Amino acid sequence: MSETNPNRQGGHAAGGGRAPGEDEVAELCRELIRIDTSNYGDGSGPGERAAAEYVAEKLAEVGLEPQIFESAKGRASTVARIAGEDPSRPALLIHGHTDVVPANADDWTHHPFAGEIADGCVWGRGAVDMKDMDAMTLAVVRDRLRSGRKPPRDIVLAFLADEEAGGVYGARHLVDKHPGLFEGVSEAIGEVGGFSFTVNENLRLYLVETAEKGMHWMRLTVDGTAGHGSMTNKDNAITELCEAVARLGRHKFPVRVTKSVRHFLDELSDALGVELDPEDMDTTLERLGGIAKLIGATLRNTAQPTMLGAGYKVNVIPGQATAHVDGRFLPGLEQEFLDELDSVLGPRVRREAVHSDKALETSFDGALVDAMQTALRAEDPIARAVPYCLSGGTDAKSFSELGIRCFGFAPLQLPPDLDFAGMFHGVDERVPVDGLRFGVRVLDRFIDAC
Ligand SMILES: [Zn+2]
Repeated sequence: MSETNPNRQGGHAAGGGRAPGEDEVAELCRELIRIDTSNYGDGSGPGERAAAEYVAEKLAEVGLEPQIFESAKGRASTVARIAGEDPSRPALLIHGHTDVVPANADDWTHHPFAGEIADGCVWGRGAVDMKDMDAMTLAVVRDRLRSGRKPPRDIVLAFLADEEAGGVYGARHLVDKHPGLFEGVSEAIGEVGGFSFTVNENLRLYLVETAEKGMHWMRLTVDGTAGHGSMTNKDNAITELCEAVARLGRHKFPVRVTKSVRHFLDELSDALGVELDPEDMDTTLERLGGIAKLIGATLRNTAQPTMLGAGYKVNVIPGQATAHVDGRFLPGLEQEFLDELDSVLGPRVRREAVHSDKALETSFDGALVDAMQTALRAEDPIARAVPYCLSGGTDAKSFSELGIRCFGFAPLQLPPDLDFAGMFHGVDERVPVDGLRFGVRVLDRFIDAC
């Protein structure tokens, strides 16, 4: 906290004081949810232009000069820079995506694009992924600028299109075509981190993302001998492919404890007061409840068959069969993953990459991590920030190419019984209003100390 800042107004009381940005965060989140930015991955959605304009307007209202970048029709991202007290220091990037995965309204308790408030939560697609963080960022920045509180260093804000389909029209576009926007940025915070996991009444862990698995989406093909379905055929492509796909689907890749996972398990051992055996993770995961879904997939490489294709008529043996597989590898284990994959699939299967992206890992230390820890503790006395590895991918992959050190830190305090991991891309996605307000206070303190 910059206690010496003469422009400082208001301020926080320890353990739950108010920052005025808190008062508008829920409304900002609701308004963002009402802008349908469904991303179908094939360009057929409404795009992010309306959200980009909304964000730009909210930033311009408080004196910033946001720029909108349209990478393809309707696919727009908004970027703005806030001048800090010390322009000689490297800048911090705060990024969020404005697109969401589609939602089928019939499945939902409250309409996914209505942004309703019920049972203390804002409901709707994007409530946790990630219009919550977009709204928190807007609320904090607007409050700070209104009250003339400059951040200690430059902050670049990026509200991005297309994250849900790999970021080609959002983060990747900006990194490739407009890298100057991120000039001097050394560190970044973004999504899927900073949320709480209540261990007991004396300890709440906040999981900060320091690593991401890499991905290999692939197509598998087997060529066989085509022929009449009534005749014998020892070279049926479907039979061969299915055997290989079944072997892969059942294959259990070995547990590999990477740096981030080791650190997380050590913290958890400490918190629970028990030794955790990485070879007996089933027992460990049982203790983690809802977040086991997040952690379980970060202990090993995985390869899940997701699509099958072959044949066009019941009495014709096709000459070829294909399958698609979603492969994810841990940081540093890409080659091991591919070698193991090929040995499981066998020589008959031809493997081609459809889309691949790298794994990331940074260490959980330094001044920025201290700032997270301090900001969380100031608002939650039983908080402890711990690093973890995300099984999926985010826009951090693109920003890391500019040499930016990326963290997932979108602080949220959650009720212990909320299935937070299940909210991502799930039905009835919602975020507690109190969680949003907490996030605003933590982010405000974090920026003071960044
Ligand atoms: Zn997301």
